[in-house]
Amino acid sequence: MKIIVYWFRGDLRLTDNPGFLSSCADAEYVLPIYIHDSKDLLDSEWGFPRRGSYRQQFLSESLCDLKLQLQQRGSDLVELSGSPDVVIPNLIKTIGSAEVYCQRIQAPEEQGDIHQLTKQGVFVKEFWQSTMVDPKDLPFDIEDMPDVFTAFRQKIENAKIRFAKPEAIPTSIPPLPMDLRKILQKQDTPNSQNYSHAHESTEAPLLIFKGGERAARLHVEQYFERRLPDTYKETRNQLLGMDYSSKFSPWLAQGCISARSIAQDLDHYEKQYGANDGTYWLWFELLWRDYFAFLPFKYGKKLFHRRGLSDKPVGKINLSQLNQWINGQTKEPFVNAAMKELSSTGFMSNRMRQIVASYWIYDMGGDWRAGAAWFESQLIDYDVYSNQGNWLYIAGRGTDPRGGRPFNVAKQMHDHDPDRVYQNHWL
Ligand SMILES: Cc1cc2nc3c(=O)[nH]c(=O)nc-3n(C[C@H](O)[C@H](O)[C@H](O)COP(=O)(O)OP(=O)(O)OC[C@H]3O[C@@H](n4cnc5c(N)ncnc54)[C@H](O)[C@@H]3O)c2cc1C
Repeated sequence: MKIIVYWFRGDLRLTDNPGFLSSCADAEYVLPIYIHDSKDLLDSEWGFPRRGSYRQQFLSESLCDLKLQLQQRGSDLVELSGSPDVVIPNLIKTIGSAEVYCQRIQAPEEQGDIHQLTKQGVFVKEFWQSTMVDPKDLPFDIEDMPDVFTAFRQKIENAKIRFAKPEAIPTSIPPLPMDLRKILQKQDTPNSQNYSHAHESTEAPLLIFKGGERAARLHVEQYFERRLPDTYKETRNQLLGMDYSSKFSPWLAQGCISARSIAQDLDHYEKQYGANDGTYWLWFELLWRDYFAFLPFKYGKKLFHRRGLSDKPVGKINLSQLNQWINGQTKEPFVNAAMKELSSTGFMSNRMRQIVASYWIYDMGGDWRAGAAWFESQLIDYDVYSNQGNWLYIAGRGTDPRGGRPFNVAKQMHDHDPDRVYQNHWL
């Protein structure tokens, strides 16, 4: 009798989830779990929570949707809390014996969890399933991938690779190995008060993100139905509203939808309406996402070191300046507006992310890691690879061939907010 514990991590979906699909094919009993990792509930070394309330809310909604979908198929989702290297061995003891399948996350903490589990004799099978392109299809060894994005993209385009075909939803899900009540009695289950947060506002929100696979599907469908890809290239650097860019990122970050499914929708769209600059540019940006997700295979923990891939000295740690930046109290109203947007919505456009990151690093002389940690805390779409990769890029500690990206705030404002509509909205 084979039992598999399927550990949902950054893949909160049933469709195109190769790891979950394999569990359903390989086992007679499948126990789907999610672990509220105690590490995520800690404060960062700069004194603010690692996971802020907007991302927490989106996560809670995504888990709720996943649970309902599993229940509708005769299964369930068991939510546990603690450190995975303690929770999983205890769970396996309760069940008797089981193997663990999960998504592979190529980042130090997540790999550390897997290492601790295997050290304790737990059999863990990991699945890489978060990118649009499958690493197996790359025309080079992932450890030797080109450093510069343009060279990476050109090799992929020359090999005519666009995306890997998504997998279907499992036709049936094997039953749970035992009565859930028995499992829950013996484990720490999350206290719902710690895991939900309602945002109350009297104003109609500009940005609406609801977590979950079904909400992701609806969002992506309406984006294509309204033909927004056609104008994506022209609008993507705008700053206000829901439609100037795709807003796929929160759902991609929690894995409510896969990048491959979105790329397949884009491919269908191009077949129906024709390819154009907008559709190409959307694929191009999704490829940036892949690029940052692949870099840790080449550079490993170095990407997470203070100096990243560079020898340049790191900026100062000045807590009072950090608070000014975080609270939108710097000398630059344009930067302040974006920092207010971030703390009021959990989102910020790509353009403003570049500007505020550059301002923190180059104008305020701050430590890039503190900026990255604040983004991790606040962003609803926080993703370890994209956040780390973009911060390193701007700081000149990653793979930017220009060695860093200082932005001129006045010029950026002139180009992207000449009438101060964005600035006045948030200040
Ligand atoms: C300092 C900094 C930190 C960032 N942190 C994150 C993060 O934690 N999580 C995250 O998802 N993105 C991050 N980004 C990238 C980018 O800002 C967001 O992906 C984008 O703004 C999300 O909005 P959208 O879905 O409407 O993007 P769109 O413009 O519609 O792009 C479509 C998709 O392409 C991908 N994409 C676009 N730009 C980038 C990029 N520069 N790097 C990687 N992928 C990209 C995203 O998956 C996005 O959903 C960061 C950028 C900067 C400059």
